[in-house]
Amino acid sequence: MDSLLEYTHAELAALLATLGEPKAFRATQLMEWVWKHRVHDFSQMTNLSPQLREKLAAQCCIRPLEVVEVSESSAGSATRKFLSRMQDGHLVESVIIPAAVGKGGAHSGRMTLCVSSQVGCAFGCKFCASGLLGFTRNLTAAEILGQILAAEEVAGESIDNLVFMGMGEPLANIDNVLKALTLIMDPKALNIGARHITISTSGNVPGLRRLAEFGKPLRLAVSLHGACDEVRNQIMPVNRKWPLAELLPALREWNRTGKHMITLEYILIKDVNDAMDQARLLSRVAADLNAKVNLIPYNTVEGLPWVRPAEDHCRAFCKALIAAKIPVTLRYEKGHDINAACGQLRLRRVKDAPAPGHFRRADAR
Ligand code: SAH
Ligand code: SF4
Repeated sequence: MDSLLEYTHAELAALLATLGEPKAFRATQLMEWVWKHRVHDFSQMTNLSPQLREKLAAQCCIRPLEVVEVSESSAGSATRKFLSRMQDGHLVESVIIPAAVGKGGAHSGRMTLCVSSQVGCAFGCKFCASGLLGFTRNLTAAEILGQILAAEEVAGESIDNLVFMGMGEPLANIDNVLKALTLIMDPKALNIGARHITISTSGNVPGLRRLAEFGKPLRLAVSLHGACDEVRNQIMPVNRKWPLAELLPALREWNRTGKHMITLEYILIKDVNDAMDQARLLSRVAADLNAKVNLIPYNTVEGLPWVRPAEDHCRAFCKALIAAKIPVTLRYEKGHDINAACGQLRLRRVKDAPAPGHFRRADAR
C-alpha cells in the first residue's frame, strides 16, 4: 500500500482531487499532519471529515515501517541502531550517531542518521556483510523517509545530518533515492539541507550522472578501496562493469557541478590494498579529484577471510598520504565514525544470523 510519506504537496493535491477534494488547502493540511504533527493514524487528522479519512485510509498508509528493535549504545560508543520491519516483513537497520565534540566525547547535540537504501545489496563487494546477504529489493522512497521519522522518535530529537551508508547501494536505487531526497529537502517535509546529506557509492556511474543532474549541493563519498583496477577487481565486482577509466571521469564531472570535496573511502585490508604503492596511487587519484581520503581499518566480518592490517602499518599508509599533501583521516571504530558504525552494523547482522539463510527466513515473516 502506498505511503503518504512519499507524496509531495502537488501529488497530495492530485490525490485529493481524485477523491473529490480538489481544494489546495486540504493538501497543506495533510502535509502538516504527516510532517508537522507526525501522526501515525488517519483518525488523528481531526480537521478532515470522517468520510475523507476513510477514503484516504482505503488507499494509503501513513508509516510504511514499524520499529521492532532498538539496541542501546555499546560501551564506549554513543551510537544506537534500530531495526525496522516493512509491510512485507523485510527488515532494515539504521544507525543514529550523535556527533562528538572534543576529546572528552561531549556531544554537540547534532545527530546523524545512517540510512539503508535497499534490502541487501546486489553489488557483492567481497568484504561487505550487506553483499554477503544478497539482494532482496529496493526500498521505496517512503521506506527511506520512514527510517528518518522513526529515528527522530527513537532519539527524541531531530536528525541534522543524513548519510546513505547503511545497507544497499543508493545509486542503484536512484529513482527512489531522488524521490526521497526531494522530500528530505522540502521545507514542508523534513527540511534537511543538501549540504547535510552524504550519498555513498561504490561507483555506479549512471547513478552518479543522475545524481549530478539532480543539481543539489549534496556531499559525495566514494567507496574506492583500491587505487587501480587490479585491486578493485579483486574485491569489488562493480569495478568490472564501471572500471576506473569510467568512474574517474564521472567524478571529475561531479567536481565541475558539485560544491564539496569528494571523500574517498578506503578500507585498509591486509595484503589486498594496503601496499605502499597503493598509497602512492591513491594519493594521485585524490590529488586529481581534489578529494579527501577517509582510511578505515577493516572491520572483521565473520565468515570472510579478510584481515585488518596492523595499526603501525595503517599509520604508515596514512603518513604516505599526508606526505603527498592529501587531506586524510585514519579512524578506528572506537569513536563515532559513521562508516565504522555501519560496518559494525553489518558485522552484527551477520553474527546474529548463524547462516545467511536464517536471516532471509526471519525477513520473510
Ligand atoms: N553501497 C554504498 C553505501 C554503503 S556505505 C557504498 O558501498 O558506498 C558503507 C561503507 O562501509 C562503504 O564504504 C563500505 O565499503 C564500507 N564497509 C563495508 N564493509 C565494511 C567492513 N567490513 N569494514 C569497514 N567498512 C566496511
Ligand atoms: Fe553494496 Fe556498498 Fe556493501 Fe559493496 S560496500 S556490497 S556496494 S553495500
